[in-house]
Amino acid sequence: MLNKPSSVKLSSILKKTELFVDKIFVNGVWKSSNHVFQVTDPATGARIGAMSEATVQIARNAIAGAHEAFATFKDFSVRERSQLLRRWADLIRENSEDLAHIVTLENGKPLKEARSEVLATAQNFEWFSEATPHYSGRTIPSEKPDMQIFSFREPVGVVGIITPWNFPALMLARKVSAAVAAGCTAVVKPASETPFTASAIAYLGQEAGLPAGVLNVIPTQSHTKEVGKELTTNIHVAKVSFTGSTAVGRLLMGQASSTVKRLSLELGGNAAFIVFDDANIDKAVAGAIASKYRGSGQTCICADRFFVHEKVHDEFVEKLANRVKQLKVGPGLNPQTDIGPLINQKAVEKVQSHLDDALSKGGELVAGGHRLKDLGENFFEPTIIIKGNQSMAVFHEETFGPLAAIMKISSDAEGVALANSVEGGLASYLYTESFSRALVVSKKLESGMVGLNTGLITEVALPFGGVKQSGFGREGSEFGLDDYTVVKSVACSTA
Ligand code: NAP
Repeated sequence: MLNKPSSVKLSSILKKTELFVDKIFVNGVWKSSNHVFQVTDPATGARIGAMSEATVQIARNAIAGAHEAFATFKDFSVRERSQLLRRWADLIRENSEDLAHIVTLENGKPLKEARSEVLATAQNFEWFSEATPHYSGRTIPSEKPDMQIFSFREPVGVVGIITPWNFPALMLARKVSAAVAAGCTAVVKPASETPFTASAIAYLGQEAGLPAGVLNVIPTQSHTKEVGKELTTNIHVAKVSFTGSTAVGRLLMGQASSTVKRLSLELGGNAAFIVFDDANIDKAVAGAIASKYRGSGQTCICADRFFVHEKVHDEFVEKLANRVKQLKVGPGLNPQTDIGPLINQKAVEKVQSHLDDALSKGGELVAGGHRLKDLGENFFEPTIIIKGNQSMAVFHEETFGPLAAIMKISSDAEGVALANSVEGGLASYLYTESFSRALVVSKKLESGMVGLNTGLITEVALPFGGVKQSGFGREGSEFGLDDYTVVKSVACSTA
């Protein structure tokens, strides 16, 4: 455990002070509103800034601005869009230290993780700047001799974007970079815990030359439901892209049906982490640390449910516990910190309740297990329990915290059945040295992504997304561009 953190004001730690923007961004203009909401540092609970709050009327204005801007932006050449995204990526890199500090102060994650997130953010803008000039439709042979079919890829239109707090820069980048690359315009509602990262990235977008109305950012806290309703029902919004909980995803999907909007939903995870008896245990332990404890266990692709073959169970548990006990918990701004605070009290209570439930149902603690109140209200030790069983909540619901629950398995089939026993299907992890076993099991796992002998799967080239109730749509890769375009077919008579 490191030293208790002291409070820091966001505006006071930036080299480029203009990146602290506490205003709403609509139609190319930054405006304060009459109401603000407070943003706090999860490490100290201290206020780091007050953000202007958007109302439903402001959301309508933003959608109208994005709609107007779409009429011209859709006809920008791919080269212009590519250059714009490239400049944006360069500015994100140039200001990466400031952006990383904003992420850490709002979200709590260690600075080293925030730096990786900002780098990945720049990579998204860069990747789509490179991809868009090569993205094209098809020429399709007709069944008829005097006909030619062309399919064009056209931008879908105005996109409503709602992002979560766990990756305040990357979640925005994944959606906005692909949308702009495709020629769409966007209205973004960032999470109320982390609005300053979104406004800083938008500020850099404006510096990069974004035309007015192409990107609008409307932070809100007390009008979230109404703004969400506007984004999912306004006739000028063609698509909604949401990352967040499955419960809110379901609600938005229902609302979006009234105007038959396109949707991309990146929802909750609850990933399985399977270790077979032929696995390289050191690799599996390193992967488990990376996957489970990154972001204090608050990533959607976090390994939650560990299924470890009985032959290697004890070795895996012993090595994992040794590594976990060495992790340093502390404030994100301390360079030695491995594990930062959780986002808020509700998150801490969820970890505690999953732990209590598991212990009351036969679980046994082998590492951690306690809140670290000496550091602050939101700190929880990285924790491992063994002797897990299916009656425990942690094996059905996403914990979203630094709790690893381990269950013994005795066969591949048992591991697969347990992994597939939940309603979500975002990521799974599998450790085995056998290629054929890896291939067979990867195909059987009901998840959108499989980490094979790795606990770190995310990169912009990977089609990212889930199956079952983890949602649909893919971000990153060329599939990510597909999600922001529609196919226009032209049947051309050659007679
Ligand atoms: P959340 O409560 O669903 O919030 C996510 C976003 O939705 C926030 O901007 C939030 O705004 C907004 N929101 C909440 N209620 C809304 C409503 N009625 N209408 C419109 N917007 C609404 O989720 P969270 O707790 O922030 O994030 C954690 C969840 O996200 C986990 O389940 C995690 O697995 C999932 N996640 C999934 C992925 C993925 O790629 N699949 C990635 C990251 C996170 P306010 O902040 O104003 O409430």
